[in-house]
Amino acid sequence: MSIFSEIPRDIEIAAGLLANAHRGVALTGAGVSTESGLPDFRSPQGLWANVNPLEVATLSAFRRSPEKFYAFYRTRLSMLAGARPNPAHHALADLEGGGILQAVITQNVDGLHQAAGSRHVVELHGNLREAACPDCGWVGPIQVITEALNDGRLPDCGRCGHRVKPNVVLFEELLPLAAYHEAEAVCRSTDLLLVVGSSLAVTPAAWLPEVACKHGAVLIILNDEPTPLDHLARVVLRGRAGQVLPPIAEQAVQRRESVR
Ligand code: NAD
Repeated sequence: MSIFSEIPRDIEIAAGLLANAHRGVALTGAGVSTESGLPDFRSPQGLWANVNPLEVATLSAFRRSPEKFYAFYRTRLSMLAGARPNPAHHALADLEGGGILQAVITQNVDGLHQAAGSRHVVELHGNLREAACPDCGWVGPIQVITEALNDGRLPDCGRCGHRVKPNVVLFEELLPLAAYHEAEAVCRSTDLLLVVGSSLAVTPAAWLPEVACKHGAVLIILNDEPTPLDHLARVVLRGRAGQVLPPIAEQAVQRRESVR
């Protein structure tokens, strides 16, 4: 049964559940980074409000019209260059440091969890730190792409000569299998899954809460709009992650320390 947001009562309940968790896991989406200035995809201010994903975010678009693809990614890369972790990223790192979370599974490619101090981060959709060649499998630093774009060129693979792309999962591509298997494994073994800032509309990431619940985990969902899995959650928190999560993390860590 869901308890809809009546902060601070929900904060108390969520903090209590977290304080009692032994192998907690967080699953994050683009909503955890909007307060760092990085737009999500699907909300009204999101990236897909003005751009058709079929033209810039599919493997076929990358191959068909790399100029258009890179015009979009050039903007994303420059946004990311100035982005810093926000209080939601720091709260998740504090929960890990306090022994409450064992891992953060993220659909984000921005690296802000690691920048905030999270140590065990499972990146389901790749990252924007690296470039990758879809033809020969070469992986290297993103500077191969940024330097080429700054010189007015499209980036080519130093090994096979084909075009390289950021090491992110595009539509029409498979998720990195090792990352998905790891995410599934931690969700099967967790006793609490905290979902933050995801529309839970993109599979297979959106299957993970069901995996965790099937194996007995308590689910907490924090998002600023309803998600299709709210009915599975013990607590649904409706609000901005950077405002709602820090007091929850602080209380949970304090309670955990007080029973040590
Ligand atoms: P999504 O855009 O589908 O959903 C984001 C959700 O977060 C929405 O429901 C939105 O209402 C909510 N939200 C936005 N700001 C919030 C805030 N401050 N607090 C609480 N909720 C907030 O994103 P998703 O579920 O992550 O979808 C997955 C796709 O988005 C992935 O492919 C991922 O790679 C990609 N993506 C990543 C980034 C990034 O790395 N920062 C940015 C855009 C998209």
